[in-house]
Amino acid sequence: MQFKFKRSVLLAVILVGQTGCISDSNGTDYPSYISIVENNPLATGFDFPISPGEMDGWKEPPEASESWDESSYLVHREDGIHAAIDFFRDDGTNEGDYEIWAIADGVVVDIVYDREAYPDRHDGGNRDSGWGNLILVQHDYEENGILKRVWSQYAHCQTIEVELNDVVQRNQRIGMIGNTDGVVGTEYWTDHLHFELRTSNLSADAWPESIGLKTDAQVAEHYTHPLAFIRAHR
Ligand SMILES: [Zn+2]
Repeated sequence: MQFKFKRSVLLAVILVGQTGCISDSNGTDYPSYISIVENNPLATGFDFPISPGEMDGWKEPPEASESWDESSYLVHREDGIHAAIDFFRDDGTNEGDYEIWAIADGVVVDIVYDREAYPDRHDGGNRDSGWGNLILVQHDYEENGILKRVWSQYAHCQTIEVELNDVVQRNQRIGMIGNTDGVVGTEYWTDHLHFELRTSNLSADAWPESIGLKTDAQVAEHYTHPLAFIRAHR
């Protein structure tokens, strides 16, 4: 139950300090956009974000459900829609040392430092609340002659091993899987990688409910199924 209490507290978190807005059906603006970086090398293929870039050894929905945190794409929870895949180990060895890999060539466009893991780099705000260490990578790719973009988001990282604006390569190690959550002295979660794939330039810490996305259709305008997308773009 402590988990549910924790998430309900997070509902009070308001996203601040970003550079754009989207509006909900009531016309309310939510600060959520970050700048798009132009003229990047094109990603030529995508892999899964965990070593060895395949799903071998990692659970898939619905088996991926762990504790309170359901792990299918677009799961409805009391704190809103969870639009992500949570990567847990098949064999339950989640507390081991597991690398996070960039899913494709791209550029690091947003980083949030967990207040406990990186007290010297934490920005003093609440962007790490619930998320811990966050990395967001923009990927440009071409499909049928059209330039497209997706953004991969990696959450609860134990370490962050890239810097803002770094150009990263497919399968480059960018951090380690962990359980950071922006709350000093708590370890509610089993180590896992919360992984999102967005089709909009939302800030790393955007959460559907917090930015006014309340239905599957609204979420699907900004997010896509991580596993399905990667399988279609190997
Ligand atoms: Zn998650």
